Amino acid sequence: MATTLPVSSGIVARYVPGESTAEVIETVASLQAHGLRTSVDHLGEDTLDLDQAEATVRAYEEVLAASAEHGLAADGEVSVKLTAVGLALADGERVALENARRICRAARNAGSVVTIDMEDHTTTDVTLEIVQALRADFPDTGAVIQAYLHRSEDDCRALAVAGSRVRLCKGAYAEPETVAYTDRHQVDLAYVRCLRVLMQGGGHPMVATHDPRMVAIGTALARAAGRAPGSYEFQMLYGIRPQEQRRLVSEGETMRVYVPYGHEWYGYLMRRLAERPQNLSLFVKSLVAK
Ligand code: FAD
Repeated sequence: MATTLPVSSGIVARYVPGESTAEVIETVASLQAHGLRTSVDHLGEDTLDLDQAEATVRAYEEVLAASAEHGLAADGEVSVKLTAVGLALADGERVALENARRICRAARNAGSVVTIDMEDHTTTDVTLEIVQALRADFPDTGAVIQAYLHRSEDDCRALAVAGSRVRLCKGAYAEPETVAYTDRHQVDLAYVRCLRVLMQGGGHPMVATHDPRMVAIGTALARAAGRAPGSYEFQMLYGIRPQEQRRLVSEGETMRVYVPYGHEWYGYLMRRLAERPQNLSLFVKSLVAK
């Protein structure tokens, strides 16, 4: 869904630094100049239009080529939602896999890598299958596990193997109790259980959270597992706890910032507002000020 509220509006700009390739490249350059790594997300999801899926692939190809041109590819990666590249279409699994392959190829040519975002629970199995298929040709392709799903500790065990990059997040979708923990405390406990599995395993854990307790536990579990700096990383979203992002870098940790860009910011912004309802009033003010 594209909306007409300009991305320059206060609350949107806090989470989405721009709409164009040039704007996101400028943001990535500025973050990397401060020692942060980056993951660029071309906003959009749930497309039912083959041309739109094609446009998304081209946008990734363009941003990856621009990253290489500006020397930003090695410390950058891209994050891709499979429903943005065709998963919801008829024959969606084949279309999404083929489109994701093209993005992985562009990333390899640029000297960069791809992580496949995780969406709502109806897509978990197919997303993990597609990541596995991509990893046959592009072994650096990252997976995402959402701690709130009951199944996730098992998924972490399966993925905690040498060469595997796994981002652990709490989970951002409104899921039913039949498949997910809905109590915040239960989600936090599940996050720690999953993190322990990943830190003790052979892969590269990517600890995606703004929660100070999870960051502290992540550091402690990495030490307990005898992990060297760089054998795991922290990740946060653009615009959330920027000072903490830099503090972790100054302490020698690897920190990657997820940078979304593009016109289709509505679904992304709504998930951020749901996590932080006090920001809703800022959003309403942006609409009124328009
Ligand atoms: P919370 O308990 O929600 O928040 C902890 C603290 O962080 C809060 O007290 C507050 O201080 C701060 N904070 C959190 N959210 C906000 C906000 N919106 N605005 C301001 N402050 C805030 N989810 C998916 O389902 N699939 C994905 O592929 C995915 N990829 C992600 C990639 C990255 C790099 C990150 C950081 C998150 C990703 N998420 C993804 C979102 C994630 O699942 C959570 O919804 C989100 O990170 C909030 O959870 P939290 O761990 O920060 O903890």
